[in-house]
Amino acid sequence: MHDVIIIGAGPAGLSAAFWCDELGLDTLLLEQAAGIGGQLTQIYNPIENYLGLSARNGQELLDHFSARVDDADFDLWTGVSIDSVDLKARRISLRSGEELQAIALVIATGVRRRELGIPGEREFVGKGIIESGTRDQQLFAGKDVCVVGGGDAAAENALLLADVCPTVTLVHRGKKLRARREFGERLQSNHCVTVFTESVLTRIIGNQEVEAVEVQRKEGLKPFQIAVRGVLIRIGVEPNTDLLRGQLQLDEQGYISVDSQQQTNTPWVFAIGDVANPLAPTISGATGAGATAAKVIATRLNARKAN
Ligand code: NDP
Repeated sequence: MHDVIIIGAGPAGLSAAFWCDELGLDTLLLEQAAGIGGQLTQIYNPIENYLGLSARNGQELLDHFSARVDDADFDLWTGVSIDSVDLKARRISLRSGEELQAIALVIATGVRRRELGIPGEREFVGKGIIESGTRDQQLFAGKDVCVVGGGDAAAENALLLADVCPTVTLVHRGKKLRARREFGERLQSNHCVTVFTESVLTRIIGNQEVEAVEVQRKEGLKPFQIAVRGVLIRIGVEPNTDLLRGQLQLDEQGYISVDSQQQTNTPWVFAIGDVANPLAPTISGATGAGATAAKVIATRLNARKAN
């Protein structure tokens, strides 16, 4: 029996683990990926607004966080495959057959990029699916590309690619881009960029690598193909709550509802970071929420032990 088990080793989960450790709690941090960091491993831009530290990218900030892990006393298990979680009993069953139990559970499972769910999207990962405009700019220089989405992320990546690609086709399902006006204006005035609104991507086509995309305009015209060598998809994110379905109160977008102490509607179960739909989904917000949950848990555990 641990005092606390934290699921997810992104900035929120790591912060909670460091704080729990500091407050003398017996803490186990579980991460399904082979390494820690969560979304930090997918940030290729400089991070300049994390107080006191700036980093060239998410990995560099993660290196700062990781440097402290070896000195900490909490247990960290990576590559963990969770079979089921019983929140009421705060019991976790692993695919390996092992059963874990804690007094408090902290859910820090974050969000994942939303997928289109179309043919070719997964098949062409590493074969023309562009992971990041920043990271892959040189790889796709001189090639025609397609970007899907209408938010800031799609617009920013389209602009980055337009600096080096002969054509960038932006495909967006809505009537108007959701991206900030400055990005919209820059896209419109860029002669390399064509924007198809009220349009969806229906297929990514190719043999060994991406060769074309199929676009369906909403007004019911016949789908048409555009020859491209790269496709970047940025259509938002969705919370990682699959393991907890039916056991917790979620908001209308499927994120975990919490109070100001990061407490869910199940006693001794807390949720922190992006999975709890913070108003500002930032690294600072995530680490702050981790500290809050740890402090609340420590206070309650001490009160329980004193009784
Ligand atoms: P957003 O949620 O802002 O936008 C997602 C876009 O994807 C929307 O335009 C949406 O369309 C579209 N979409 C959603 N689901 C589908 C689907 N199934 N098929 C096709 N299109 C779909 O996400 P972002 O990742 O762009 O941004 C997330 C946050 O990060 C925002 O707050 C943003 O401001 C911020 N950000 C800031 C940046 C910066 O400041 N430089 C850069 C990148 C992101 P619809 O509009 O029709 O709903």
